[in-house]
Amino acid sequence: MRHLVWFRADLRVTDNPALYEATAGGAEVEAIYIDSPGQWQQHGRAPIQRDFLSRNLQALNEQLAHLGISLTVLTVDRFAEVPALLAEWLEERQFDALYANRELGIDERRRDKAVQQALTIPCRVYNGDCVVDHGSLTTRSGDMYKVFTPFAKSWLARVRASGYRFLPVPAAQGEPQSCTPLGLSGERISSEEWPAGEAAAAERLAQFCQSSLRDYGEQRDFPAENGTSSLSPYLALGVLSPNQCLAAMEYELEQLPFSRGEPGFVWLNELIWREFYRHLLVAFPRLSMERAFKPDTEALQWSRDDQGFRAWCEGQTGYPIVDAAMRCLAQTGWMHNRLRMIVASFLTKDLHIDWRRGEAWFMSTLIDGELAANNGGWQWAAGTGADAAPYFRVFNPSTQGERFDTNGDFIRRWVPELAGVPAKVIHAPHDWLDTHHPGHGYPKPIVDHARARLHAIAMFDALKDREPV
Ligand SMILES: Cc1cc2nc3c(=O)[nH]c(=O)nc-3n(C[C@H](O)[C@H](O)[C@H](O)COP(=O)(O)OP(=O)(O)OC[C@H]3O[C@@H](n4cnc5c(N)ncnc54)[C@H](O)[C@@H]3O)c2cc1C
Repeated sequence: MRHLVWFRADLRVTDNPALYEATAGGAEVEAIYIDSPGQWQQHGRAPIQRDFLSRNLQALNEQLAHLGISLTVLTVDRFAEVPALLAEWLEERQFDALYANRELGIDERRRDKAVQQALTIPCRVYNGDCVVDHGSLTTRSGDMYKVFTPFAKSWLARVRASGYRFLPVPAAQGEPQSCTPLGLSGERISSEEWPAGEAAAAERLAQFCQSSLRDYGEQRDFPAENGTSSLSPYLALGVLSPNQCLAAMEYELEQLPFSRGEPGFVWLNELIWREFYRHLLVAFPRLSMERAFKPDTEALQWSRDDQGFRAWCEGQTGYPIVDAAMRCLAQTGWMHNRLRMIVASFLTKDLHIDWRRGEAWFMSTLIDGELAANNGGWQWAAGTGADAAPYFRVFNPSTQGERFDTNGDFIRRWVPELAGVPAKVIHAPHDWLDTHHPGHGYPKPIVDHARARLHAIAMFDALKDREPV
C-alpha cells in the first residue's frame, strides 16, 4: 500500500491525524505540499507570513526526512488547478489513498470537493485544527451556537467528559533520508524574529506555561508586558496544534482549568474563542465571502475616507495608542490583542470605515493572519458579528491607552516623536508638545472622538428604521 499525505495548514508531525493515520498500517508513505502563489495573493496574505511558511516548510521537510518520509513541494497558481495536478501525480506514482487534515475557508472547501470528485482513490480527511470537531457542538435544535458563552460551556463539558486527542509523532518509516532545501517563491519579508519549526513552537509553549500561564488573566491586557503566549503565528500555520496547548497546560497545572477563577482558565477561554470562530466559519460560509454575520448590518453606511484609512495604516491618526499599535504592526507583523481591539474599534467607530478594509489590511500585514480569527475579531469590533461588541460600546482610544499603557512605555517604543513626553500627558500630548517642542511633527487627532462616537451610534440606530432584510 502507498499513502500520500497532503500537508496544508498543519505543518507538524506531532498530533497530526492525517500523517498519523497514513502511517499507522505500515503503508509506504510520501508527503506533498501544494503551493499556490496566485491564490495566496488573491487571499491577500502577508509577505512576512509567506516567509514564515517557507521556513516552517523547510523545518517540516527535515523532520519528515528523519522519519524516512520525503516531502515534495508542487506549485500551481490557483486552487482550481489542484484537482488535475493531484489526479496526475497520484496516478503516475500509484498511490492507494490520500490523507489530509480539513481546511475551513470556502475556497479551500471547494478545492477539496473538486479534488475528491477528480480522484478515483479514497481521500481520508481529518480534524487537525480544533480540539472539538467542527459541527459537533450544537444547540438543542441542532444549530451552531451564535453566542460565545453557551458554546464555551458546551465545549468545556465535552472536553471534561471525553478528554482531548494527543497523537504522538509516528514511528519512523525507514532510514532517515537526506533532504534538499525547500523554499517558496514570491514576495517575502523576513520573519527571522520568529524561530521556525515545531520544536521552537513547543519550547515557546512550555516557557509560556511555566512563566506566564497562571498570571495570564492579570497580565494579558498590557501591550508593554510579555503577558501573552505569542503562539498565534504557529497556531495559524498548524506548526502547533491546540491539543498540544491543552497538554502543556495540563502538564503545568496538573489538570485542565474547567472553571472560571481557576489559574489558567482565562487562557483556555481564549483557545475556546479560537474554536468558536472556526466552528462559525464552517457553519456560515458567508463569513468567508466578505459578508457580515448579521445580515441587517450590510446596510450600514460606511465612509469612503481614503485619507483617514491611510493615516490609520501608517499610524498617523494623532491618537498615540492607535499610532503605536499600527506602527508596531507595520514593522513587526504582529500586534497585541488589546491593541487589535482598540485599532479595529477606531477604524470602524471613529473613522466609520468598513471593517472589511481593516480585515484586509491586517491579513496583508500579519504574520499570524488567519481567516476565522481575523474575520471574527473584525466583525466583533465593528458590531456586525456573532456575539459582537454591542454597537453603542465604542472604545475611547485615549482612556484605553491610559488603562492599558498607563506610563506610555509601549507608545514611546513605537512613536519616536513622543519619546520625551511625560506619562501624565502621553495619551493627549498635543498641548505639551506644542509648548515644549514646537515643530514636533506629530499629527493632530484626525477626528474628534466624542463626535465620532455619536455618529457611529447613529449609523446603527438608522438600521432600526429599515425594513428587515
Ligand atoms: C481585529 C482582530 C483581528 C485579529 N486577527 C487575528 C488573526 O488574523 N489571527 C489570529 O491568530 N488571531 C487574531 N486575532 C485574535 C488575537 O488578537 C490573537 O490571536 C492574539 O493577539 C495572538 O497573540 P497570542 O498568541 O499571544 O495569544 P494568547 O493570548 O496567548 O492566546 C493563545 C491563542 O489563542 C488564540 N486566541 C487568542 N485570542 C483570540 C481571539 N480573540 N480570537 C481568536 N483566537 C484567539 C490564538 O490562537 C492565540 O495564539 C484578532 C483579534 C482582533 C480583535
